[in-house]
Amino acid sequence: MKAARIIKPKEPLIITDIQKPEPKGMQALIKVIASGVCHSDLHLWEGGYAGAAGSFIRVEDRGVKFPLTPGHEIAGIVEKVGEDVNGLRSGDRVLVYPWIGDGLCPACRVGSENICDNPRSLGVYQNGGYAEYLLVPSAKYLVKLDKLKEEEAASLACSGLTAYSAVKNANIKPSEALVIVGAGGLGLIGVQLARSITNSKIIVIDLDDKKLMEAKKLGADYIVNSKSEDPVKAVKELTNGLGADAVIDFVNASSTVSKDLEMLRKRGRLVPVGLFGGSIELPLVSIPLRAIKIIGSYTGRLDDLFDLVTLAERGVIKTIISKRFLLDEVNKALEELKEGKIVGRAIINP
Ligand code: NAD
Repeated sequence: MKAARIIKPKEPLIITDIQKPEPKGMQALIKVIASGVCHSDLHLWEGGYAGAAGSFIRVEDRGVKFPLTPGHEIAGIVEKVGEDVNGLRSGDRVLVYPWIGDGLCPACRVGSENICDNPRSLGVYQNGGYAEYLLVPSAKYLVKLDKLKEEEAASLACSGLTAYSAVKNANIKPSEALVIVGAGGLGLIGVQLARSITNSKIIVIDLDDKKLMEAKKLGADYIVNSKSEDPVKAVKELTNGLGADAVIDFVNASSTVSKDLEMLRKRGRLVPVGLFGGSIELPLVSIPLRAIKIIGSYTGRLDDLFDLVTLAERGVIKTIISKRFLLDEVNKALEELKEGKIVGRAIINP
């Protein structure tokens, strides 16, 4: 079978032939129909994240091993299941939950596999969906699709799920003001979820007018281009001088977080999600004196993915797909994402 693999960070992915896996026990083999191209795949390809004071956090130091087939937003058709699988058969259309843990750590034991001590996520620590077929370690990680097409479902597994957890972590009320930083793949689902779940006042900040216009269409009350406007001043003006009750930062870079903290009101919650990285200087007494909370949010739980698929099946939220690529065009897809040319998500159709 064909797979697009990162052999070495920063070098073009290689399309290569690898052995098609044979599912055993509880495993399932999926014929990949759609694989979303997440900005996290770019970080993986670049080999890591910006750390503090110009340093670099290497993914290999966090347990990632190359060569690797990336891709963690995967939907497809069950090709074959292992002998112990019941309730799922070949031909079923499914979305894959990729945030797999070791099953035994304290987080896994209570269903939070996404924050496992020894993560085994597909497309990060194990081969993922930039391939014709994907071996899923257990059929329990598959969510059956009804009306949703595979390509409409794929991005729910990361951009949708991560945005859903972030909105929950922000714990926002209808009377409050929520700022969303970054109207990319994550942010554009985040806006829809915030609109339908919280109905709060939603202000979206980005550098790109095209993405901001899309955010407005999807439910943002106000949009702010931080390239042409001071985002702190804009948010203060839109909140009677008080500031935001919560900020979800889908960029999470030095430049955005320093502004987030300024635009946050007393008792505010900051939810950093993005992995653009960097560092900031923070006066420590401001945390207790202003009673602010900083809540890191990483992907989401399997039970939340079932909720999300239901919301998408009912038409409450939708994934925004602006471009499609063949597996052979994977490097082009990543380059275009890096250049900021993708509105919402690009999908690879192997
Ligand atoms: P994307 O490339 O689709 O979107 C990024 C958006 O941020 C774009 O609209 C871009 O214009 C905007 N942006 C960039 N710099 C900005 C700045 N300084 N100020 C305002 N806006 C800015 O990316 P994505 O797929 O939505 O992912 C966003 C980030 O979230 C990435 O770093 C990704 O790796 C990370 N991520 C985190 C998790 C998690 O669980 N924490 C999960 C998935 C992705």
